Amino acid sequence: MALSLAKVLVVADGPGVMLHTAPLLLALSGAGYDASVAVSASAGIFATPFSPSMLTGHAAVAWPPTEEGALDDTKVILVAPCSSAFFRELAEGAAVRFPEKAKLLVAPAVLPADDVEETWLEFERMGRGRWAVIRPFGSRLELGALGELRTASPEQCVEAVKRSLIRQTMAGKRVLVTAGPTAEDADPVRYVTNRSTGRMGVALACAAARRGAEVTLVHGPMSWPVPNVPNIIPVPVRSASQMHEAVMAKVMAQDVAILCAAVADYTPVTYSDVKIKKGHEATFGLLLKRTPDILASVGKLPNRPFLVGFAAESDHVEANAQGKLTGKNCDMICANDVTEAGSGFAVGTNRVTVFMRDGGIERLLQMSKDDVARKILVLIEIRLHGQDGS
Ligand code: C5P
Repeated sequence: MALSLAKVLVVADGPGVMLHTAPLLLALSGAGYDASVAVSASAGIFATPFSPSMLTGHAAVAWPPTEEGALDDTKVILVAPCSSAFFRELAEGAAVRFPEKAKLLVAPAVLPADDVEETWLEFERMGRGRWAVIRPFGSRLELGALGELRTASPEQCVEAVKRSLIRQTMAGKRVLVTAGPTAEDADPVRYVTNRSTGRMGVALACAAARRGAEVTLVHGPMSWPVPNVPNIIPVPVRSASQMHEAVMAKVMAQDVAILCAAVADYTPVTYSDVKIKKGHEATFGLLLKRTPDILASVGKLPNRPFLVGFAAESDHVEANAQGKLTGKNCDMICANDVTEAGSGFAVGTNRVTVFMRDGGIERLLQMSKDDVARKILVLIEIRLHGQDGS
């Protein structure tokens, strides 16, 4: 059986229980949390406590809990979606005593007539620093005849839960991540690209954001979804030269740059505005030219941020990675053998060896890309803090 991470209690309020609670509970369980649910009186009009609790394997409960110590070993209490009136009762009333160590999270339910920013500020005021308020970052909940609510999506709520349980060791830091492949257009229909999905870069962006960093994610056309998280700013690009331009425009404002994208090394010499027609010849030649090397360009900048590169190799992994570390003037190179099963492109796992400028080598075992990302962030933090002298 999978190891359960932490106990999370979802308090459902109002009609959101009909459409928000079930996917939220499933997403929390999917992320490994031991989720349970309590249903407020106003949510009870729309669903019995029994219905969502069928998904959690825990007994049905109504909010507020009456049993003494019912919340004692709960690590996170997440009220989602939550009306202002209900939140006032929770945050300012004395009816429920929340365990001191529990993280308290609330996702405001913003009505169509309300201003998102004002509602958010009102919740922040009422929460008095004790509650973390989850912004409804571009997500809406359609409730049919009842209209629509703007409230954090189940995925955004899970992200907030993860973040609440991680020490904010990168708060105030800016991190730029490049991810995914680039696409080099030959004509309006054809382009040159590679097998990268963007999953490793997205995992790094999420890991940095969860530690409190402000993340800029410059990404090519990825088949892995771009995370919809407030402190990840996506900058979509298509080609290597667009990625180069976007990175060079932003990189000097960063504390860390992690260049993980599988940038095309070559791009068609010319772009044809019309679709290239097939001819009678048995072969067709597409002439390609070198793209700018983004990692090397950043490596040459004076006062550049802490610089991390990747090396996807099919042979002589270690020697090639060491060569890139010095050749492109990086602080760290994360190398992997893309021919190894369970490592590299289009799989959920990776086996990475990290080479550091100070000579350190960290050989990570094969693990999920999320775990690889966490380990890389820890290694970066150690070096960053070392640089700060703290
Ligand atoms: O030299 P190679 O392409 O193998 O180096 C890989 C590293 O360089 C990766 O970090 C990749 O993101 C980066 N790179 C780049 N711009 C290129 C080619 C690679 O930033 N044009």
